[in-house]
Amino acid sequence: MAIFRPTLQRNRVTDLSVKTVQQLKISTLLLDVDNTLSTHHSQIPLNGVEKWLADMTEAGVSLFIVSNAKKERVAPFAEQLGLPYFWLCKKPLPFRLKKAIRQLGAEKRSVMLCGDQLFTDMAAGNLCGIRTLLVTPAQLETGWTFRLRRCLERPLLKRYKKEQSQ
Ligand SMILES: [Mg+2]
Repeated sequence: MAIFRPTLQRNRVTDLSVKTVQQLKISTLLLDVDNTLSTHHSQIPLNGVEKWLADMTEAGVSLFIVSNAKKERVAPFAEQLGLPYFWLCKKPLPFRLKKAIRQLGAEKRSVMLCGDQLFTDMAAGNLCGIRTLLVTPAQLETGWTFRLRRCLERPLLKRYKKEQSQ
């Protein structure tokens, strides 16, 4: 199940430090929105996210929002943060990620995707051939499709955790 495997795992996206990003030679972060930068449907960034984005920008890291959500959810959120964005990205398909990378003039080896879902975010990152950061979802979703996905994620997450501790 290598296609769903994250390169790195952190509790929150803000736990990824500038230092780590520099050590990994990452110059571009592609960012999921729901449950990564904010809770579902919320236009308010999670605690510390604005400062984290500012710190990354100051360190010369390019940022780009790649969300599967609709334009009316993504556009106001990204615009208040002053970030470029794509909506309806259809992750796990990698095409919009590739387009964002092209638009930024970045090289794949220096790009990392940050997201909270194995079957969309991590799969898209791996299909695109870039590194990935998996974060713990900020708030668990209530819809049945999400509950099912989270349920299917569980055994994989357990396995990845075991591998990392070995
Ligand atoms: Mg998400």
